[in-house]
Parts: sequence; C-alpha cells; structure tokens
Amino acid sequence: MSIQDIKNSIRNIPDFPKKGIQFKDITTALKNAKVLREILETCAEHYKNQKVDYVVGIESRGFIFGTALAYLLNCGFVPVRKPGKLPAKAISQEYELEYGINRVEMHADALTKGDKVLIVDDLLATGGTAKAAADLVHKLNAEIVGFAFVIELNELQGRNALSAIADVYSVVQY
Ligand code: AMP
Repeated sequence: MSIQDIKNSIRNIPDFPKKGIQFKDITTALKNAKVLREILETCAEHYKNQKVDYVVGIESRGFIFGTALAYLLNCGFVPVRKPGKLPAKAISQEYELEYGINRVEMHADALTKGDKVLIVDDLLATGGTAKAAADLVHKLNAEIVGFAFVIELNELQGRNALSAIADVYSVVQY
C-alpha cells in the first residue's frame, strides 16, 4: 500500500466546522481495514526500538489510534482528556486557540519520573494541543520519546514547536 492510498482514504470536508477550514475526516480511513492496519503498523515500526512505556493519547481521536498503537508497541495507554472528565486527582494545562483558551488534563498519578512516553493524536496542525499534552507529561517528570500523528498539515508548522522537544512522526502530510 502506498502513501497515496492512505491519503485517498482520508476524506476532505471544506469549510467544516467553520469557513476556511479543510477538515480531514479520518472516519473513511478507519473504515478501511487495510488502511487502518497500514497506518498503525507504520507508526509502530517507527517507534518499535524506542522502549516506549506508555502511549499518551489525546481525546478523542488520539484515543482511537493511541490505544491500538499501544497494543502494537506492547505498552500501556494514558488518556489526556478534556476538562472535568477524569475521576481521580488530575493535573491541568491551558493552551491558546485561535479564539480563546483550551485546557487538557491527565491523572496526577498516570506517569512517574523516567517513564518513556509517546504522544499520539490524529492530526498535527499548529501543534498547540500536542504541546499542552507534552507539558502535562513533563509536569510528571516523564520523558517524551516522540510525537506520532496520522496527518500533518505542513503549512501550520506545528512540527517546529514540537521537534525542539522530541522526534515528530506523521504518516501522511498535506
Ligand atoms: P493543533 O493543536 O492546532 O495542532 O490542532 C490539532 C487538533 O485539532 C487535533 O486534535 C485535530 O484533531 C484537530 N484539528 C485541527 N485542524 C484540523 C483539520 N483541518 N482537520 C481535522 N482535525 C483538525
């Protein structure tokens, strides 16, 4: 399977959720068994020798790929959630959006010093969300070995902010 086959399986929705955004819809890729396997196996191949202890997946599309990737890497999974969802004591990180401020949370006991972590989301745009997840991981003194995304939007240069922290890997780029 080629990168173009994977790209062809991702549906583009113009002007969703607002005018000017080209929304990359992964549901059409998830439906395709061969594409789903290829995406996960290429990510796992890239990080298989890094001794990852935990995949940290970002709600909610990062959960879909993150958990499956954790399975392939034979490691555990830690969720980064939207505010107010986690039941036990949590730590919190704010980050800026185009309009306003957002916040992500992680259980305070989810990671400990020295844990090696791979941060996963479906798509890298500005990198703000992944950077906030990285800040949570660093607050718990864990170590980031990389960031994995299915899709990277080159124009928004999210890679610049993240590559100073750790390796950045994406399966397809636009
Ligand atoms: P950012 O923090 O700017 O890197 O945005 C990344 C987050 O927003 C990811 O969780 C994506 O799922 C979502 N996102 C941003 N832009 C798009 C897009 N064009 N299509 C689909 N999802 C997007």
